[in-house]
Amino acid sequence: MARKMVFIDTSLCTGCKACSVACKAWNDHPAEKTQRISSYQAQADFTPNTWTYVRFREEYKDKKMRFNMLKLQCFHCGDPACMKACSSNAIYKTETGYTLIDKDKCIGCGYCAANCPWGVPKIDEATNKSTKCTGCIDRVENGMKPACAQTCQPGAIQFGDHAEIMAQAQARVEELQLTNPKAHLYGTELMGGTTYVYLLQDRPDAYGLPLHPTTPVSLTLWKDIVHPLGGLAIGASAAAITCGVIVNLVRGNYANRAKNIAASHDEGGK
Ligand code: SF4
Ligand code: SF4
Ligand code: SF4
Repeated sequence: MARKMVFIDTSLCTGCKACSVACKAWNDHPAEKTQRISSYQAQADFTPNTWTYVRFREEYKDKKMRFNMLKLQCFHCGDPACMKACSSNAIYKTETGYTLIDKDKCIGCGYCAANCPWGVPKIDEATNKSTKCTGCIDRVENGMKPACAQTCQPGAIQFGDHAEIMAQAQARVEELQLTNPKAHLYGTELMGGTTYVYLLQDRPDAYGLPLHPTTPVSLTLWKDIVHPLGGLAIGASAAAITCGVIVNLVRGNYANRAKNIAASHDEGGK
C-alpha cells in the first residue's frame, strides 16, 4: 500500500471536537471527566483513552481575540524518537508511514512517553502498555479514512496518498500566504518528516507546539551508533560500559523530558 498522509488545516477547524468523539467511538474508549482548561479546551492532555483532543490558545491583538485551535494526536514521525527509545523494540514503522506499538512486546517502561517531543504516548496503568493514536490503521488497511478525518465536517482533516495530499497542502498554504505570510506547513521537515502535517497560521509556539522538536542526542548515539557498533567494532566489555553510560543518559532524559512536557501542558492551560 502507498505511503499515506493526513493534512490538518487549522484555518478550517471550527473547534467542534467531533474528531475526538469519533476517535473514542471507533476505538471503543470510554468518556472521561472533562476540565475547564481554557474557555473551550476541555482536556489537558492525551490519556490512555483519549488519543486526540483539541487545544485552544487565545490570542489578543488590536483588542480582538482569536483562537488558535489544534487537533492533536501522534504525528507518526518518519524517524520517531519513541521507536529509538523503546527498550523492547515494540515500536515499528509501516510502509504506509504509521508508527505502531506491538502490545505483545511492550513492557510499559515509559521511555517512548518520555522521549516523544510532543508527549504523545501514555502508559495505561491497567494493562502496563503504552497507548497512542494508531492512525486508524485498521480502517486504512480496509480502504476507509481514519475516523477523525471521516467525521470532520469543515474538511479540516484530509487523508489520502502522500503525493496527492502533499500537493493539496502546498496549494492551500500558498493560497493563504497571499493574505497571511505567517501561514506555513508544520511537520514536513520535522522528525524525518511526519505523516500528520499541519497548516499553521502563526508560529508553532502560538499553538503550544515546540519550534524544533528533536530526538535526544543520547538516544541517537545509542540506537544509531553505539548499538550497531557494539557487536562489531568494540570489544564486549567496552561495549557494555559504553552502552551503560548511554542507557543512563537515556534514563536521565526520561525524568527531564517528562518534567518539560508536563510544564508545557501546564503552560497551555493558562
Ligand atoms: S472535527 Fe474538524 S473542525 Fe471539529 S475540532 Fe476536529 S478538526 Fe476541528
Ligand atoms: S509523535 Fe511521538 S509517539 Fe508519535 S511517532 Fe512521533 S515520537 Fe512517536
Ligand atoms: S487517526 Fe484514528 S486513532 Fe488517530 S486520532 Fe484519528 S481517529 Fe483517533
